[in-house]
Formats: sequence, structure tokens, C-alpha cells
Amino acid sequence: MTLFRATIMDTTGDPFTGDPAESLLADQDGGLLVRDGIILARGGFGALRAAHPREPVTELSGGLLLPGFIDTHVHYPQIRAIGGLGMPLLDWLERCALPEESRLADETYAHAVAGEFLDGLLSCGTTSALVFGAHFTSAMDVLFDGALRRGMNVTSGLVLSDRILRPDLLCSPADGLAESRALIDRWHGRGRLRYAVTPRFSLSASEAMLAACGDLMLSADVMFTSHINENHREVETVAGLFPGSRDYLDTYDKHGLVGERTVLAHNVHATDAELAVLGEQGAFVAHCPTSNSALGSGLFPLRRHIERGVGISLGSDVGAGTGLFLPKEGLQAYFMQQLLGTDGTPLSPIHLLFLATAAGARALGIADRVGDFSPGKEFDAVWVKPAAGSTYGVNLVHASDATDALARTFALATPADVAAVWLRGEQVVLPAPGERIPS
Ligand SMILES: [Zn+2]
Repeated sequence: MTLFRATIMDTTGDPFTGDPAESLLADQDGGLLVRDGIILARGGFGALRAAHPREPVTELSGGLLLPGFIDTHVHYPQIRAIGGLGMPLLDWLERCALPEESRLADETYAHAVAGEFLDGLLSCGTTSALVFGAHFTSAMDVLFDGALRRGMNVTSGLVLSDRILRPDLLCSPADGLAESRALIDRWHGRGRLRYAVTPRFSLSASEAMLAACGDLMLSADVMFTSHINENHREVETVAGLFPGSRDYLDTYDKHGLVGERTVLAHNVHATDAELAVLGEQGAFVAHCPTSNSALGSGLFPLRRHIERGVGISLGSDVGAGTGLFLPKEGLQAYFMQQLLGTDGTPLSPIHLLFLATAAGARALGIADRVGDFSPGKEFDAVWVKPAAGSTYGVNLVHASDATDALARTFALATPADVAAVWLRGEQVVLPAPGERIPS
């Protein structure tokens, strides 16, 4: 067993439905007792030490020990395609993202990209992710293998498209079905891996392809993820392609793809009818603030989601998003709600911590295992500790209380402040700056 001593913070309640202050658990001098990767006890360090006087202690002085971050929308093939600014969604896809995605047909290339992607997540304190995969089965094998060997909580799937995109990214519904089934057989449920049925979006998936996705959802206890309502031109094009559908959500819903195992990214331009269906059916929406800002997609109507009972989580949406560090997404989410004025939802630092951790666990259906530090859960954690002499360090020292410390962390922390990461109790060997761990 190991007794971790740190300033510990997590959210054990939902600040959107309850009192935010009561959602936060914070121990200035806290302790977590961990055995075989599972949290056995949590409390003040002094009391835990008295009860377990002989256990080795890992001292994490300074900074904050937080649950590992959970990214619910991030594209593995786009890790080398960040920073393409100045374009709306469909132009950015054509010029930046999809040419890079095509390169993953080469397994050697995919292997290098997977290593950079998975180590990039860990270096940013992200221990669980719903990963938008590649269009190629061999590239998915590489990703799953890398995540399995690292012990990461990764849910992902082969990206399916059968129209509109460049031809090398397309496959037939029959091939998509067969290749997805084979990947589910090989990877779903191994270690901490799970499978997500992943049509790119209705714009590039025909009725037959979406029907194949529906078959896959019925055949196994897998997740479903895709994009929705990100950009006006995209929404209008989808409406033209599906004249028989009530709205964008209906293109998925009529194939049985909207339910408690569904996470849809963006939903910036949702109708009230769509929000009602999402809320009734218990589906989740991954809000991707830096991506929405970079592509000029719009200001996320968070309040309307909360009012309809739609669960929200955070996604970095790399490579349209501007990095893998979830606290940056939290800060950008806060900015966007401020900019919405009276239509916005003021987000406290407690909301931001919830969105970056426990909310993601709920969306991914793994809240019984990760997302906070409750006894019985797996010890996935990130120690955010300011670099010596940094402005973040100066501010953290002068924080007045736990909420203030979180506010300063979301405002100022960067990936350089990720001092240590644990996956199920095992400390991750993080790449030193300029050094990459072989995948
Ligand atoms: Zn995306």
C-alpha cells in the first residue's frame, strides 16, 4: 500500500444540479491510501497516517493532486495537424485534417503518430479519453495496442465514411461493419480499452452506413460517438442530404444511435427539439471550446443543455482544438460563457474541475471507476505543480482557499506544470522536454 500526501481536490457531486461548493472535496493536507491501484481510504493525512503508521508515504508537496483529466473528444490522427487557424470547419477539414488523416494508411506512420498522441495525452495529465480514431483498421490496431501497453483508459473506434470525403478515406457499409466487428473482437474489454462506433458525421455517412452503425450498437456493449451541429454550413448540408429527417440528431436517432452510451461532439447550433431528445435519452455532449473558437463555429449554448438535462463534458478536439491540456479547455469554456452575457452560464472553478474530470467519467460510463478519489475507485491522478518561480506558482501560494486555488490553476497552469501522472496506481514515466518515449 502507499499513502499519498498532497493538497487533494476532486468533485464528488454535480455542480450543475447541486450547490457547487458542496460538490468540491478539498483537503489542504490530505491523504489517499492506495493498494493495487485502488483507493482504499481518503481523508486528512494526519488521521490516515495514525491509522496506517507503517505504510510508505509519497509526499507531493506543493501544487494540487487532481483526478486524471478525461478528454471526451480528441482525434488521434490529427496530433500533427494542430494550429491550422483562419478557416471554418469544412475548409479546415479539406486542407488540414483529412490530408494528414490519409497518411495513417501507412502503419509505420500511424505507429509514430499513436506514440506522440498517447504520450501527449499523458504529458497533459489526461488518463482517460474518448478518442476519435482513424479511417484505417491497421492504424486502430496500433492505437489500441499502444493504449493497452500504457494502461490508459481509452475508448475508440474505426472512423466510418462512405461519401463526400477524399476517396482513400471511404469504405463501404459492409466493409465498415466487418472491420468494426473484427476490431471489437480484438480490443473491446481488453485492459481498460473499450470500443466506440464512430461514423465521422452524417455529412459523410449514408443511411446505409448509419444503419450498419446501428447494427454494431446492438451487437455489443460499445459506445457511440460522432459530430453534430458544429457549423452552419455543415448543418445545412446535412439537412439537404437527409430530407426525410426532422433534424441533424434525427439522422443518428432513427438508427438507434442516441442513448446513454452516446457522446456527440459540439452541438453548438442545437434546436430545442434536439436538446429535448438528447436529455430524454440520456445522451452526452462533448463541448470543445478552443476548437469552436479557432474555427469560429459559435458560442456553445451550455445553459440550454443544462436546462434540458443534457450531460456535458469537455473535449480538446485536437487538431482543431489548440492542444491536449484540458484545463485550457476549461478556461476557454469559462470565457465563452462570459461572452454570452445573459445567455451564458457563469462557470465557477468547481464547474471547471468537474467538467475536466468527473463529467467526462459520466459521459464515458466509467464514473464507477474513475473521475474522482472516492474509496473503491481506481487511482488515476495528475499532480499539477507550478514550475519554480512561475507566475502560476506565485498565484497558487497566494490563493485564499481551495476554490481560489482552482481558479488560479485553470487560469495559469500549462502542460509544463504537470509534475506526475498515475494510471491505476502506477506512476507514468513522462517524456522529458524534447524527449519522446518509444511507442
Ligand atoms: Zn472532432
